[in-house]
Amino acid sequence: VTPPQSSTVLVIGAGPAGCVTAATLARRGIQVLLADVPAAALSHGILVSGAAVRGLATIDLVWPARTPVNEVGLQFGTGPSHTVPDVGAVTCDSVLLRERLQRAAGQAGATLLHGRVNALTRQADGYRAVVNGTPVGSRHLVIATGAGPLPTQQPTAAGRLPTLRRLQAAHTVGLACAQRCAGGSLTGRMLLAMTAPAATSNREPPTCVWALPGAGGAVTIGACRLGDAQQSSAADLIAAALRLVTEADPDLAEMHAAGPVISGPVYTGFDPEHVIQAGCLLVGEAAGLANPFTGEGLSNATHSALLAADAITAQLGDPDAACRRYARRLSSTFVGYFETARHAAHRYHFTWRVLSAAAGSDHPFYAKSRRALLLPEGLSTLVGTERMQLPAPESALLDSFLAACDEILVSTIRREWPFLARLALSTGDAAHRELRPAVLFFAALLADGNRPDMLRAPLGAAIELGSLGALALLGRPTAAPPGRGIDWATAATVLASDFLLSQAYRMVAEWAPEVSWSFADWLAEMTALRASQLSAADDVPANAIFGALFEFPARIGAWLGGCPPEVVQAMRDFGQQVGCAFLHAEDVLALRGERTRLDTTLEAMLESQVSGVPGYLSQAVCGPKLRDRYPVAPPASVSCSDVRALGPEGVAIAIQAALDACRMSHRRALNAMTGVPSPAAVHILRSFAGTVAAPSQ
Ligand SMILES: Cc1cc2nc3c(=O)[nH]c(=O)nc-3n(C[C@H](O)[C@H](O)[C@H](O)COP(=O)(O)OP(=O)(O)OC[C@H]3O[C@@H](n4cnc5c(N)ncnc54)[C@H](O)[C@@H]3O)c2cc1C
Repeated sequence: VTPPQSSTVLVIGAGPAGCVTAATLARRGIQVLLADVPAAALSHGILVSGAAVRGLATIDLVWPARTPVNEVGLQFGTGPSHTVPDVGAVTCDSVLLRERLQRAAGQAGATLLHGRVNALTRQADGYRAVVNGTPVGSRHLVIATGAGPLPTQQPTAAGRLPTLRRLQAAHTVGLACAQRCAGGSLTGRMLLAMTAPAATSNREPPTCVWALPGAGGAVTIGACRLGDAQQSSAADLIAAALRLVTEADPDLAEMHAAGPVISGPVYTGFDPEHVIQAGCLLVGEAAGLANPFTGEGLSNATHSALLAADAITAQLGDPDAACRRYARRLSSTFVGYFETARHAAHRYHFTWRVLSAAAGSDHPFYAKSRRALLLPEGLSTLVGTERMQLPAPESALLDSFLAACDEILVSTIRREWPFLARLALSTGDAAHRELRPAVLFFAALLADGNRPDMLRAPLGAAIELGSLGALALLGRPTAAPPGRGIDWATAATVLASDFLLSQAYRMVAEWAPEVSWSFADWLAEMTALRASQLSAADDVPANAIFGALFEFPARIGAWLGGCPPEVVQAMRDFGQQVGCAFLHAEDVLALRGERTRLDTTLEAMLESQVSGVPGYLSQAVCGPKLRDRYPVAPPASVSCSDVRALGPEGVAIAIQAALDACRMSHRRALNAMTGVPSPAAVHILRSFAGTVAAPSQ
């Protein structure tokens, strides 16, 4: 018997997921065999999302020629197109990308083997397989074979690998196709169109179509259809895609096919229970990690590969422990929309209908949902993605608290509302520290120098759910559809908000009954503020809502942390001021035309009265200056065209007023912080306030 060529890790499949796993491990000095059956080299333009670009940077990929994609034009059915800015993606040639990925793995030190892997067995000391007739062996096994069939196994006297299984359910399998075209032009942007769901049926398979810019003005069109892999014909699908994009975009009206139709299967059946099987780790599309709305797979392939490499590195001597670690990380990272596809077609349809109905709205709840579901960039907490700078000891404490909050939060809502779980969870690694209410709550627990009790994490999760529920309320009803049609967008915000608030109450009643009255008062106060603001009964400034949003976690954390009344008051003032600073910072960004942390626009902020702009325009600081120049005093409620009518000089004055207001609230927050005794809490609070006010610095 020929002795097997052995290594620590065998990775089967050298697509993006396999190459990133192999390259990352090899760069850490771990022996890796990377086996791949060469596929037919049919090239098309491929979209590499911003998240995938960042992931691939970790293996020092030498890129083929790239074309930037800065914005996505989103289209639902025949509705108006909606632009999503700052996506930070690129396109490149699919075959060249694969070659470069394999080269990166080889240069990192992985050994490439060409041929199909089969005859897999598991033995006491690891795995055996045959590649092109050559036996190979390894301690760890990573399966990165994409959406196609999983490698075959072979029972032997020495060992048996249980059959690797796939989740077979509606909407988990489908077909993707792509074709190069000529005669169109897209510069710096791509088009992503989803067919509108039929009003009466919830069985129709969703279809997503895209058009990507490429080198030399070429355009690649693509389409993905889930749910009827057997019935879809790639030629029909791509012909329908070409029709759709030429009708949707005047720049593509003359476009025609200029290359072969390339197609392949899509598998979106991610299931945390199937990502480790028989002691091996499934990564990328082999684990069902393609986006069920768009078919996009590179970001999740890259991300899962990095998680797999980390798990193996951490548990080099114990493959089963590596598997467990990987499954845990994967489960908490890739929560949400995959389960939408898995659990129930009607939830999928619901989400699809909501996205479609809210396509024209910049309401923060829809805007965040759109990005979280369709664009794989990994954002989704309530308020943005800035990283706070913290020293190591506080950082470690905070990370484990936030990880516990996430786990509880997600397990509370993932089954019923997977798409909300996706929205609520910060993707990226569990150690993320975005601006979020749970950070304030944690700092407040620590304010008097007592070590925060991890049993407070459920309350942290409830506060986050309550904040997300409040975010859903920050909008105005969309226009009712004609006839007796359902206003899916408004229905979704009301249902989502009700669901989130009821879950938040339930968790507080179970885990922190001593604060259930205060919690109920907090939510009632936010709802009442919003209601009187919308009914214009009172002059409620928008920053009052954000003040209330941030005040509660700060106050209640301090109280539970055993702080004396003066420290509770200091924390309360801090939360209030930081909430005001947050709103003013949003205004600064929106007035400058930059992306806001709530992912909304000036127009939507003014329309739903979530903006301080009317206040700045009528305030002493801003009003007289503007009144000198403009005969008509700014009205109490302001529209976007009112702001535009002020001209560049007037807008600059409004920006200055927003900057001043933001800096003042920031200063007041820092002053309040002087009453907080714990240096660790002060570190976190200073960092939090600085991050909130960063746009004004
Ligand atoms: C037409 C089309 C267009 C697409 N466009 C985009 C896009 O623009 N952007 C995007 O993000 N995603 C796109 N996707 C999806 C994306 O290509 C996949 O999600 C991604 O490639 C998955 O990466 P992976 O490494 O998991 O699997 P794959 O890329 O499929 O790689 C798996 C590898 O394993 C090899 N293999 C399989 N079985 C064995 C075996 N037994 N032994 C040895 N080797 C084996 C295969 O030959 C292959 O090389 C598209 C898909 C298709 C079909």
